[in-house]
This record gives sequence, C-alpha cells and structure tokens, in this order.
Amino acid sequence: METDVIIIGAGGGGYPGAFRLARSGYRVVIIDPKGELGGNCLFSGCIPSKTIREIAQIVWRNNRILKANLKPDFSLIQDHKDRVQEIRYMQHREELKEFRDNIELIRGKAKLIDNKTVEAETENGMIEVKGRYLVISTGSEPVKPKFPGSEFSITSDDLYGYRTSLRRLPDDITIVGGGYIALETATILKALGYNVRLLVRSDKVLKGFESEIVNTLLPLLGLEIMYNSPILEIKKIGEQEFEVFYSDGKGNKKSLKTGLVMLATGRKPVLPEGAGGILALDSKGHISVDDSMKTNLPNVFATGDVNGKAPYFHAAVRMSIAAAYNIMSNGTPVDYVDFKSIPVTIFTIPPASYVGIMPSEAKRMGISFIEASYELKNDPMAQMYDEMGGVLKLYFERGSLRLIGAWIVGVHAGFVINELGQAVAHGLTARDLAEFADQHPTTNELIAYTARKVL
Ligand code: ADP
Repeated sequence: METDVIIIGAGGGGYPGAFRLARSGYRVVIIDPKGELGGNCLFSGCIPSKTIREIAQIVWRNNRILKANLKPDFSLIQDHKDRVQEIRYMQHREELKEFRDNIELIRGKAKLIDNKTVEAETENGMIEVKGRYLVISTGSEPVKPKFPGSEFSITSDDLYGYRTSLRRLPDDITIVGGGYIALETATILKALGYNVRLLVRSDKVLKGFESEIVNTLLPLLGLEIMYNSPILEIKKIGEQEFEVFYSDGKGNKKSLKTGLVMLATGRKPVLPEGAGGILALDSKGHISVDDSMKTNLPNVFATGDVNGKAPYFHAAVRMSIAAAYNIMSNGTPVDYVDFKSIPVTIFTIPPASYVGIMPSEAKRMGISFIEASYELKNDPMAQMYDEMGGVLKLYFERGSLRLIGAWIVGVHAGFVINELGQAVAHGLTARDLAEFADQHPTTNELIAYTARKVL
C-alpha cells in the first residue's frame, strides 16, 4: 500500500492533522491497535477521568450545599463514563466517514522498517505501507514500578479505561504518587465520599509546577498526604484488603491497611518498534523534535506525548496540526508550536491552571514584570458554589504591559485560563484585558478586574 502520509497512533497527536491533510487532498493512512480515533485520552485518560470528576463535583456540591447524603453506586458512574466514551467513539466514526476517500484507519500495531516504510501487524496479517511522510504519535503509558506485591495494584488505566472491569470501589483507597494524576484522582474519589490517602516518595507534590500555585492549591484540597513515604511492598490480606508497607523516611518500615492501591507514578513514552533505531531520543526516551515537530529525519514528525514537550491532549492537537501544515509545505517549516501559550490545568477539585511564563522563570530569564492578583472569595461564581478559596494572578511585562503569564486556582480555573492563553498567545496588554467586557457573572470577569489594577 502506498500513501502520502502515515500516521502512527490515532490520538490527539494523530487524527486532527490527518483531517487537515485530508481536507487538502492528501492520502493518509492511520494505524492504531484500537482501531478507533481518540487515543488514550478517550480510552483511559482525560475524557473518562473528567466525566467522573464532573459527577464527583455534582455529588460534592449536593452534599455540601443541599446537605444531601449522596454516596453513589460507583458502577452507575462507570456506566455513565462508558456511555460518554461510546458517544465519542461514534462521533469519531462519523468523522472518519466524511474523510473516507482520503483517510484509511488500519487496526493494528505499527513497526518502522525505515523512514518511509511501516509494517502494520493486523488481525489479517502484516500490511506494508509506504509513505512520503511519517507522523509518530504513539503517546505514553503509566510507569508501573516493580516491587513485591506490585501486581496487586492498579493504575489510572484500570480505573478509567473504557469498559473497565473495575466497577466498584472499597471505602479506603491509597494512591501512590504526587503528580497531577495522583492528585486529581484523589480529590475526585474524596468528593465521591471515599477515604483517600496519598503515599508520596519525596517531600513534595506537583514537582515542576510553580511553587506559588502549588502552595495556593494544596490547602484547598484537604488531602491526607504522607510525604517521604516510598512504597516497599503490598500484601494481600483479604478478598479486598491489602497491607501496604512503606518507609517512613527514617529507615523504619511501617504499614497501613487499605482496600485498593493505585499507582500514579508517572508516564513514559511509547515508541513503535524500530523508531528508537533511526530517531534521536532525549534522555527520558522521548522522540526529540524541534518546534515544527520535525525529528532528526526530515520526513518524520513526532507529535503528542511521545515527544515529551507537553503531555496534554490539547497540546497534542496543536502539534498534530502544526505537523500537517509543515508536511503540506513539503517539510519547510511554516508552523511552529508556541508551547508558552498552551494552558495547563490540574483538574483537582478545585482546579488550578496556568499559562505562559511563571515568575520563577521570568526572573531566570531576566524579564522584569509587574503582577496583579484577585482573590476568588470576591467572585460571584465562587460565592454561588461556596468555593471561595483561590487566587487569580496576572503577570505583565514592565513597560509594554503585555501579559506574559497567568495562573488561577479555584472554581472554573480551566475555563478562565483559555482566555488568558489567547491573551498570552497574541501579546495582549493589560489595557486590552481591562477594556474587554467579560460576561457577568462568570469567573472570567476577574481577568478585566485584575488587569484594571495596574492601569
Ligand atoms: P497523544 O495524545 O500523544 O496523541 P495518546 O496516548 O492519546 O497520545 O494516543 C496514542 C495512540 O497511539 C494510542 O491510541 C495507542 O494505541 C497508539 N499506539 C501506541 N503504539 C502504537 C504502535 N506501535 N502502532 C500504532 N499505534 C500505536
């Protein structure tokens, strides 16, 4: 089989670019063992976890504001989650039909033979595909460290996976890890009424995030976090009961009893077989790319989690589109991804979001800035939900007053940050933000209020 572009992996880093290329008449072959579009985000990541999160917020708000005593049957939540996933799979199948003349989706696992030849291992045997361009968007997967009894633990894939067998949860849950997946899951399950604790190896959570954001967020989460407590062993002591052994940081082995252990100990890139041999990788095994998504081989692009630049679906989509444009220009880069204007949200309850250059980085870069902030306790939305903790902070370059960065912790953070992302991307100034009539009452209106403080 011959085609213009082969895309390996049908997630956010793969299919949006395929659609773009198809609309311009390119023939595209997408290969993915799932045989569906959506990748891991839809199968076991953002969509299922955020579906459960939305339900958890409804439950939590009912219990708090209306003094309800809801402790929903988790299997009903899982049923709803599966339905949402199914709807999205159907939607993608419809989209593919629109592009049937140009896009072929092969259900199979791809292996690179060289930079223009890929073998897809399918149910009906091996299919060889030759293409002028290659996009690798094979994503990432959870890292599952090995220790005695690690087989008794689950990962986020087991909790969130499409049609997962995990339909019921015990009352007591231990989550190992201190990254955003660990914290998000912990707050979601806590909001649903489970007793959750986090076992964290070091003395910190959310490493890599600006410390002021973390320090603002953490007290609002109300999580039980056991720091300096690396997990050593899990023993099964009953049908749904485990003893978890950990070190208390002073060399003492301690243990606790719990009904479920979930490991959220990081993710690692997934490379198709043969890619490592011909492509340059970074120290963590991601495929190295420049901002045009090009690898060390001029006709090979790598987008999404696999390049390690920004492991988020929306970032993968942006990268996928950039790769498509750069393929359409015959490999001459015409589109570069501006990673600084891609917003990031930690979907805890409440959430935290940021975009652009954070103060610690601005200081390192020698950028002089002024800041303005607003407390969410004065925001009508926060008051309505009675979720009044949180802060919005805006950073403006001194002189130009261009917005260089922003963060928000609190209700609707994930929505507010989109507008701020546009502002960072397009170099909007405090004046531009201050003059815009954000709707009342939405948390976005805090942007204008805050910007007015520096004028
Ligand atoms: P991203 O958001 O970075 O695009 P995802 O993790 O959502 O990444 O999706 C990656 C997709 O790549 C998954 O659907 C996975 O099944 C697929 N994939 C992984 N390895 C291979 C492979 N060797 N051949 C084809 N597809 C693959």
